[in-house]
Amino acid sequence: MKYSGLAGRRVLVTGGSRGIGYAIANAFLEQEAEVHLTGRKEGGKGPHGSIYHSCDFSKSANFKNLCDKVQHLKIDVLINNAGINKTGAFAELSPEDFLDIQQVNLFSAFRLIQTVLPGMISKSWGRIVNITSIFGIVSKEYRAPYSASKFGMDGMTVALAAEVVESGVLVNSVAPGFIDTELTRKVLGEKGMREIVAKVPIRRMGKPEEVARLVLWLASNENTFVSAQNIAIDGGFTRV
Ligand code: NDP
Repeated sequence: MKYSGLAGRRVLVTGGSRGIGYAIANAFLEQEAEVHLTGRKEGGKGPHGSIYHSCDFSKSANFKNLCDKVQHLKIDVLINNAGINKTGAFAELSPEDFLDIQQVNLFSAFRLIQTVLPGMISKSWGRIVNITSIFGIVSKEYRAPYSASKFGMDGMTVALAAEVVESGVLVNSVAPGFIDTELTRKVLGEKGMREIVAKVPIRRMGKPEEVARLVLWLASNENTFVSAQNIAIDGGFTRV
């Protein structure tokens, strides 16, 4: 299916080397957009036809180089997707892990938005989609650093959307529920995956491609009136 206004757009997807980001990058390629994406490995790759940039967001100098490069790309659509999670009892969380999660999940999005926003405003058109999580809407034990980053991302989305909506820039978040990716398998394990599926009203995990379709719509010209939202795509988990 073709969505209007995406062909030829310059798109940047962070964390596009696998999982949800890979599916998002692929979906934009199918719309004939010019797709830039990031991953940590030197010489890594995303889907065929994408332009790969290596960057570890935990490393400040490396991240600054990426921002310098992105400044010249004239990005129309920014998808802040790169994310990490580390679970643990609050008292045992290390300050380093807490800060690392904020740096990768939240601060990188803040800086990349600052980098691309002036260009979007000058064109009076731009789309920013931040990938949050259902744990940025609800939460549970052992997820304090992750939830702090994802609730934070929602707050940043709303404040920014208010500031730029009249300039033609629509800013939203998408909050995936349990999506079958490496991150989910690592955090939950096989047994945890089975237990979670039993709690999801639709009785299955989501697919990265399902998240990608929602992101495409939000970024396209089909979206004329949705801004400042944090849209859950979770098989009913947060509402039922
Ligand atoms: P994956 O672990 O499958 O992929 C993560 C991506 O982020 C990879 O491209 C990875 O690059 C990149 N990345 C990891 N660490 C860093 C870092 N330090 N610096 C830069 N990039 C990094 O994750 P998912 O696809 O599952 O998740 C994508 C997003 O969706 C995340 O923000 C996550 O919080 C969110 N989400 C996921 C859910 C799920 O069920 N899967 C549910 C809710 C939200 P590399 O390949 O080089 O490691």
